[in-house]
Amino acid sequence: MMVCRTIEAVRAALAPLRGGSVGLVPTMGALHDGHLSLLRAARDECDTVVMSLFVNPTQFGDAADLDGYPRDEERDLAIAADAGVELVFAPSVQEMFPPGFQTWVEVEKLGAILEGLSRPGHFRGVATVCLKLFTIVHPDRAYFGQKDAQQVAVLRRLVHDLALELELRVLPTVRDDDGLALSSRNARLTPEERRRALALPRALATKDAETARQLLDGLDVDYVEVAPFDPPVLAAAVRVGATRLIDNVPLEGDTP
Ligand code: AMP
Repeated sequence: MMVCRTIEAVRAALAPLRGGSVGLVPTMGALHDGHLSLLRAARDECDTVVMSLFVNPTQFGDAADLDGYPRDEERDLAIAADAGVELVFAPSVQEMFPPGFQTWVEVEKLGAILEGLSRPGHFRGVATVCLKLFTIVHPDRAYFGQKDAQQVAVLRRLVHDLALELELRVLPTVRDDDGLALSSRNARLTPEERRRALALPRALATKDAETARQLLDGLDVDYVEVAPFDPPVLAAAVRVGATRLIDNVPLEGDTP
């Protein structure tokens, strides 16, 4: 497995592989089985699998959240190699956002609701970094998790609006046995907080906003709402201690 730190190195490494299809799995690391399901799908569907490993500072509003984000590159590289990834792109912040950087892409309406209200600028950071990754890697397919349903909606809009030549593949949310959606942030929960956090998947499983609101009563809830994505989802964000968790359930189809 190749590990590239620069845009130039990625382009050089991929040049001889352009005859076959390229799949990109963007991640911020601290890999878990949710990421693995994306890597496996990419492995199944593409000749070359590229994983990006980049904790994107421009999508964090809160410096403490960025500083405390779990990082373990050695472990992530071992997992990626095991999953059959050919190339990991793990750039520095300087490489992706060099001094003087001032070009942003904003998906105006979809990026402003729900998560966008609680985290102003979040989707501008997500859309910009993903567009840059797409430009660097030129994937035929890019893989994302339904866990971040609004991110998927924003990126679908971006791909459509800017006529990007790639297919977005969306994989179902992977959950722990107790129902909690896997997230790199779960590592920060104390056992007691984790117990309280289980109210989130239980509330969403009702697929009814009013019932979910009642079940989440007493928690620090940012929102519980039906979101107008494709498919529509019941989405919620709650704070448990210092950790903010998001989750959603699709309201149509059989995607978990
Ligand atoms: P992150 O590293 O948190 O930015 O996530 C990288 C990708 O993994 C995103 O497309 C996420 O939606 C996806 N992902 C994160 N958690 C899960 C999960 N529990 N199930 C499926 N996909 C996930």
